[in-house]
Amino acid sequence: MRAFTYERPADMATALTAIGKPGAKFLAGGTNLLDLMKVEAEVPQHLVDVSRLPLVDIAEENGGLRVGAMVTNSDLAAHALVRERYPMLSRALLNGASGQLRNQATTGGNLLQRTRCYYFYDSSAPCNKRAPGSGCSALQGYNRIHAILGASDACIAVHPSDMAVALAALDAEVEVQSAKAKRRIKITDFHRLPEATPQKETNLNNGELITAVILPPPPAGGQVYRKVRDRASYDFALVSVAALVDLDGERIRSARIALGGVAHKPWRALEAERGLVGATLSDDAFAAAGEAAVKGAQGRGHNDFKIMLAARTVARALTEAAQQRKA
Ligand SMILES: Cc1cc2nc3c(=O)[nH]c(=O)nc-3n(C[C@H](O)[C@H](O)[C@H](O)COP(=O)(O)OP(=O)(O)OC[C@H]3O[C@@H](n4cnc5c(N)ncnc54)[C@H](O)[C@@H]3O)c2cc1C
Ligand code: SF4
Repeated sequence: MRAFTYERPADMATALTAIGKPGAKFLAGGTNLLDLMKVEAEVPQHLVDVSRLPLVDIAEENGGLRVGAMVTNSDLAAHALVRERYPMLSRALLNGASGQLRNQATTGGNLLQRTRCYYFYDSSAPCNKRAPGSGCSALQGYNRIHAILGASDACIAVHPSDMAVALAALDAEVEVQSAKAKRRIKITDFHRLPEATPQKETNLNNGELITAVILPPPPAGGQVYRKVRDRASYDFALVSVAALVDLDGERIRSARIALGGVAHKPWRALEAERGLVGATLSDDAFAAAGEAAVKGAQGRGHNDFKIMLAARTVARALTEAAQQRKA
């Protein structure tokens, strides 16, 4: 690990000034950043520890919830209003990492965790994300965990967050603040596709701190988060689906579908959602939505299986969400 300096501001103003120092980076729970520093995939010169900032509240706001950026993944998953009104979010969080990690990991840090592509962590391997212009080892390498949607020839990595997939289905927003201004970014616009610049993963500007995640009023309908992984705990998604189905008798009034493990960002399957509106509840309708969700998907060899897996996981999650609504 390279040498770095460290400070722990007690207030926002000091933190937002400190991040202007050369090579500065925010540190929250440290569960991803410190690992990346150990393998020198990240080499900040200065750490601004924001873990003690007063951003730890979960509060009702305009019929929804405002979640402070320093709320831990454990506290968010266990919060009574989250469990009652946004169960897919609670399930997504509980499907991530381990109890110890969730106690330390924060809401803001979870959104900004970086890909688990093996080559990104291996400093001897070409990787456009870690060393722009060096190439992508995964394209011709072992790419079982990689993207099937929205990838580019520069990078086929996927975003690893479970929480962000549920937030995408819930139409959440991310509140960010710099020394000069505060703004909100739709979660679906927060992360970027890799295109030619995979090193730029979000639309955050330099010096912006995530201060909160804003959940709109809970949507009507049954909510499900389903994650498929190689082992039952402590593993990242091969494919995950956050699904929401609202019914009017036997007809589907509305549906939302977000996928994880398939793209460089949480992937909203809008065409599949539109195809379900007004359809009669049936296995065929959900199977068709699964197919629509993976339209245009491209496998890279080892990850070809993900296309069928994603289609089937979408259909299964929609079925479970509809069953909840009927129950
Ligand atoms: C073994 C293991 C298994 C895991 N399994 C899963 C899993 O299955 N699913 C899953 O979703 N996650 C999983 N994780 C990842 C874990 O959820 C993330 O590491 C964690 O959420 C990151 O939060 P943090 O607060 O520790 O962030 P940090 O490591 O402190 O920071 C991560 C990044 O966010 C930036 N940052 C942090 N807070 C802010 C802020 N408020 N504003 C601006 N920038 C900020 C930092 O600069 C850094 O770039 C796993 C991690 C490990 C180690
Ligand atoms: S997929 Fe992306 S992160 Fe992985 S080696 Fe290629 S450029 Fe690097």
